[in-house]
Amino acid sequence: MLEVKNVSYYYKTKREKMILNDVSVNFENGIFYTIIGPSGSGKTTFLSLLAGLDTAIKGEVLYNGEDITKKGLNYHRRHNISLVFQNYNLIDYLTTIENVKLGGNQDAEELLKEVGIGKEYWNRNVLQLSGGQQQRVAIARALASDAQVLLADEPTGNLDERTADEIIELLKKTAHDLGKCVIVVTHSKHLSEEADKVLEIKDGAVYSIR
Ligand code: ADP
Ligand code: MG
Repeated sequence: MLEVKNVSYYYKTKREKMILNDVSVNFENGIFYTIIGPSGSGKTTFLSLLAGLDTAIKGEVLYNGEDITKKGLNYHRRHNISLVFQNYNLIDYLTTIENVKLGGNQDAEELLKEVGIGKEYWNRNVLQLSGGQQQRVAIARALASDAQVLLADEPTGNLDERTADEIIELLKKTAHDLGKCVIVVTHSKHLSEEADKVLEIKDGAVYSIR
């Protein structure tokens, strides 16, 4: 489904520091992955290569066997992946339901019900919701897209433990019930234990640790 093949990456301003050194990983549908690693190890960088927000210096990222640069990174971002960030990245002047509708064509009301946001919140400005609710809306927005891959960068970083657990449950269901490929960067040991497969980024390499 999504494949990283012999990828190397460093920031041009910091050539001496190899962030990823000849990394190869294969991601499949229906599986909930977590990526762990120390701060600064390159987790966000790795995710941005998967998302087509940046390109590898060497090697390639393949989607269904095709290099994502072939159809173009814009195409990849629009059709193949959806993103969830730590700070939710919702549009602050829109309502809850308007934010979800921006994600794609799936039924926004149905999605909001699925992530546990009651009707009374649908037409409010999204900033009036709590942090946990906003992250649910961000997940609903990601699920509004038909994309098969959901990428999340520290999606529970700003949430209390109980809310974080509920978000994890939602991400797991997304992989298992909807058959999507869900890849979540986290430094929460607790979150990583809930995953089907755990990868660790360390010293430029990606290890499969479970
Ligand atoms: P993580 O998400 O694991 O904390 P990042 O992928 O954000 O790590 O960063 C990996 C390394 O690359 C860090 O040393 C960071 O300082 C550096 N880095 C991140 N973004 C840039 C950038 N735009 N320019 C130069 N260096 C960067
Ligand atoms: Mg990061």
